[in-house]
Parts: sequence; C-alpha cells; structure tokens
Amino acid sequence: MIGICILGATGSIGVSTLDVAKRHSDKYKVIALTANTNIDALFEQCLEHHPEYAVVVNEDQAVLFKQKIANSTVSDIKVLSGSKALETVSTLDNVDSVMAAIVGAAGLLPSLAAAKAGKTVLLANKEALVMSGDIFMKAVRDSGAKLLPIDSEHNAIFQCMPAGYIAGEDAKQARRILLTASGGPFRETPVEELHDVTVAQAVAHPKWDMGRKISVDSATMMNKGLELIEACLLFNMSPDAIQVVIHKQSIIHSMVDYVDGSVLAQMGNPDMRIPIAHAMAWPERFDSGVEPLNIFDVRQMDFEEPNLERFPCLRLAYEAINAGGIMPTVLNAANEVAVDEFLNERIKFTDIPVIIDQCMAEFSADSVDTLEIILKADKDAREQAYKIVEGIVH
Ligand code: NDP
Repeated sequence: MIGICILGATGSIGVSTLDVAKRHSDKYKVIALTANTNIDALFEQCLEHHPEYAVVVNEDQAVLFKQKIANSTVSDIKVLSGSKALETVSTLDNVDSVMAAIVGAAGLLPSLAAAKAGKTVLLANKEALVMSGDIFMKAVRDSGAKLLPIDSEHNAIFQCMPAGYIAGEDAKQARRILLTASGGPFRETPVEELHDVTVAQAVAHPKWDMGRKISVDSATMMNKGLELIEACLLFNMSPDAIQVVIHKQSIIHSMVDYVDGSVLAQMGNPDMRIPIAHAMAWPERFDSGVEPLNIFDVRQMDFEEPNLERFPCLRLAYEAINAGGIMPTVLNAANEVAVDEFLNERIKFTDIPVIIDQCMAEFSADSVDTLEIILKADKDAREQAYKIVEGIVH
C-alpha cells in the first residue's frame, strides 16, 4: 500500500485526489489530510477516508475541529494544528507520497520538507516551485525524491518526454516545449472593458473548475506565467525554448517538439483527475474516473500566440524568469497579494499587473542560495505590494 498525505485536501485538487484515491483503495491508504479553515469539508473527508492524521492550520478552527472529531465515530484520528504540523505530516515515515495542493506560498515549507525527506512529491502547488526554484530542485536531487507534475500542462509535457525521463534532467533531443493555455474567460474581451470585470466573471473559467486564486491567475494569464517558470525548472529548459500557445478548446494539454520535427502532444478531457491519476499510478496507469475523450466532438482545434498587451502578467513572468534570482519570488508574492485584494473587491482587475510591475521595480534580482533569502524576499515583496495597494485604494 502507498501511504498518501494530501496537503490542501479540501481544495479543488485535494477533492479530485481523494476521488482518485478512493477508486484505488487497494493501492492507496490515506494517512493525512490537511485544511486551513474549512473544517466542515475536512470532517466529512475524515468520516469517509479515516486518515491517521488531520491538520487544521487555523488555530481557532482547530479547537472546534478537535471537538467534532472527539465526538465522532473517528475519534482515533490525531488532530494537529498550526502550519508546522503540515511539515510533520508531509514527512511521516508511513507517508510515501505527498500531494502538494495547498494554494500559494503557504505550501512551500511542507512541500519542500517532503522533497527533502525523499518522498514522491505530486506537485500541484506551482507557487512553491516558482518561489524556491533551484533550491527545491536540488532538494529533490539530493534526497532522491520523485517529483511528478500535477499541473495538467506539465504533466502532459512529462508524458511526452522520452521513457525514463526524470523531472529536472535535460530533456534530450527535445528542442521546444509548446505550453498550451486556454486564454481564460477574457481571451476576446475588448481590452478597454477589462477594467470593469467583476470577481464572478474572473473566477468563471470556461474550461476548468478550479480554486478562486488559480481561476483569477488564469484570467490574467499569470497562471501561464507561473507555469512558464515552473516548466523551465521541471524540464531544465530556458524560457526561449518554451512557446506559450493559446488553445481555447483545452484538449491538447501541451506538446514537446523534438529535433527530428516530431511534435508529441497529450490530449484528454479537461479534468484534473487525469494528471492526478497519471502521477499516482506512475510509471503505470490506472482508471481516473474521467469519461473517454470523444474525438468526434473535437471538431476544431485552434492555436494562437498570446498578446502580451492584453496579458501583461505573462510579460512580467518572462521578465522575472529572465532576471532570475529572487525575482520569481517577488513576482509570485506581489501576485498573491494583488489577487487576494481583487477577490476582496478592494482593487480592479487591471490593477493586478500594475501592482506586480511596480513591486518588481523595487527589487533587484540578487542571487538566491538559501531558503532564508527566499522567505525574506517573499515577506518584503508582500509588504511592498500592500503599500502599493494602499496607494491605489486611497
Ligand atoms: P483551492 O483554493 O481550491 O484549495 C486550496 C487548499 O489549500 C485548501 O485545502 C485550503 O484549505 C488550503 N489552504 C489555503 N490556504 C492555506 C494556508 N495558509 N495554509 C494551509 N493550507 C491552506 O486551490 P486549488 O485546489 O485550485 O489549487 C491548489 C494548488 O494547485 C494551487 O497552487 C494551484 O495553482 C494548483 N493547481 C490547481 C489546479 C486546479 O484545477 N484547481 C490545476 C493546476 C494546478 P481551506 O479549504 O481550509 O481553505
């Protein structure tokens, strides 16, 4: 049996992971589930999957959760609280595999701890990798951990790599990655109307059902920017060798272009259980629960280059990766602040790239060789981004 810890179990990826794990309960045993505040959802998951551990990061909610568990039929579940507990459960001896599905920088330390402990890391939490870059990849190499991408695009690229490919290695004979993007809900909205888009419009993704933060990132295309940086790290490629392609049907999930002119693509219905099941079964395959792709329904596939004027966040991501050092950390931190403020309706949709741009301008790239430098850059960039927000709001 493979013991799995799901960081961010109550989120969109967490729920899909539990769905796949349940289909394969002969192979997977759920050891630990974590949430931040959503104790009702976590409680239902505990009743159904009976993990050994449940973590509630928020201390107030954890008190309530402990009472619920104590009075339930699953009172033997050990309940932990606080962010340090995430690292405790992601490194337990009987945990073989860790689904890193916390959203944002909050997922960095437990994901990195899992990598350092040599676990199989199923990486959805792209922000963790974008922030920590080479440090994360080195932790994977040094410990012998396995790193399997969950982001549908990166999972697709991984599937198109030569047999035996290991994340972080040179992708031999692959000359280009074609990183697909749906273009989000505002692919065709006149640019002058973007100023007034609402939160409800921004989180209504046309193809994928996802958490709120990544949905906004998809609408600004910062999601693709973060994925560009993620792809450079996972596949050891320079940004110049990665072409972002808008493919609105979201049937092809990305492609690899080889030196002989062959282009390999991975296709499927847009359902995250496909990459999740791929990574959980790897190097074999098992059922994901997703309907087979009806190829006759795919009448047309369109591909276009992204317009960096419409999507300035993508341009900023290119700038960050080209600058290197702490700049991807700064980009990510400023984006997290800006998206949160947009979701709280304090700023406009079009303020998001302005805040990130102004924030990045306050920092120089500097080199990154320790985790402390990253954590400081993350903290400083958040403070700077909040200052910029206050200037916009007042
Ligand atoms: P959701 O917002 O749906 O879920 C986030 C999860 O993280 C929840 O379990 C949440 O707990 C937990 N969480 C939030 N903040 C904290 C915190 N401070 N400390 C600990 N846990 C926290 O996000 P998604 O599932 O959509 O995305 C998760 C990650 O996967 C992101 O990095 C995203 O970019 C990536 N991803 C997602 C895809 C998708 O289809 N959704 C596709 C590809 C990548 P609680 O419920 O209690 O708030």
